[in-house]
Amino acid sequence: MTFTKVGIVGAGQLGRMLALAGYPLGLHCLFLDRSADAPGAQVAPILVGNLEDPGKLMELAERSDVVTFDWENISGAALAPLEKATNIRPPRKALEISQDRLLEKALFQSLKIPVAAHAAIDSKEDLVRAVRRLGTRGVLKTRRMGYDGKGQYVLRHAEDIDAAWTHVGKSGLIGASGLIYEQFQRFSREVSIIGARSAEGEIVYYPLSANTHSDGVLRFVIAPFINRTLERTARRYLRRVMESLGYVGILTIEFFVVKGRLIANEMAPRVHNSGHWTIDGCITSQFENHLRAICGLPLGSTRALGHTAMINFLGEMPEITRLLAIEGLGFHDYGKEPRPGRKLGHCSITRAHARDRNQALADALKLVHWS
Ligand code: AMP
Repeated sequence: MTFTKVGIVGAGQLGRMLALAGYPLGLHCLFLDRSADAPGAQVAPILVGNLEDPGKLMELAERSDVVTFDWENISGAALAPLEKATNIRPPRKALEISQDRLLEKALFQSLKIPVAAHAAIDSKEDLVRAVRRLGTRGVLKTRRMGYDGKGQYVLRHAEDIDAAWTHVGKSGLIGASGLIYEQFQRFSREVSIIGARSAEGEIVYYPLSANTHSDGVLRFVIAPFINRTLERTARRYLRRVMESLGYVGILTIEFFVVKGRLIANEMAPRVHNSGHWTIDGCITSQFENHLRAICGLPLGSTRALGHTAMINFLGEMPEITRLLAIEGLGFHDYGKEPRPGRKLGHCSITRAHARDRNQALADALKLVHWS
């Protein structure tokens, strides 16, 4: 069975790029989000309301053949009633696990996917014990709701325990779900793998990307990151997670590369910032393949068109005329008000050779200012 009406919970930039990818396929997207001016609402209709409002969610479900997400932190309890009215893809269980760093790590471990040594933290005494057992450096994180480095503190010495406790406490993200302390990974690279799985169990994988973060926020990506051994391993891990969850749609896993080994950091049950390069850099984008997967359409080729770099626009938009003067540059404005640190857009550049791509990346980085 194929579907054409797609309900999307959350109308941020991910939802917007999903809706844009849906138009050529004749799909009709409908959003639910708090603002009639959200990035997605500028390109497709929206129901305005709270993301967990039971009435609005049910209306979205009743008006859609399939419901998906651009925001994965919606509670499982809010979603459960929708399962009677529509198809939820990816499955609710994938969202529930990815919302909690501890459950996520437990899933990875059960599938023999390596993770950083870690401990659950519910009190300062737990943190003292964990630091004694796991040592420093380590990262104290909220189990839930953290993203882009929010709700995190790096402990360099045992004396940092008080500061870490105060900092993460002040983030306002702790809630009832507690914290996690992870050993700091001295990685040579951060990479991610993205794949799409259909309801019939077919899987397609995008090439690995190498992701550069600063202050916990993704700055730029190069892809394909060519390392056949890591690529093979990453695919195997992604397949294990997808199959264990009966997954349908795009799934992303982010890894640290430590001494040539992949250590899983986290997964995202949705299209991902490290996959934006696929819009201009692959035959079928991650957005289109997510829609194809959840709507029961054949999955598209994930072949890269060359060597691509993607740069995030954070806090302020760069001067468009100067960037567009770079040959073949794809420019993506999310239609958001500038605010410090906010993801406002991205650009990507594809070249036939990695060396030329690296030069184009260096040129474009001179024109992008993060604030
Ligand atoms: P996360 O929210 O877990 O994706 O963390 C955001 C970024 O912080 C990661 O992409 C890393 O750059 C850094 N980071 C998080 N956890 C660790 C860790 N255990 N070791 C080293 N760096 C980390």
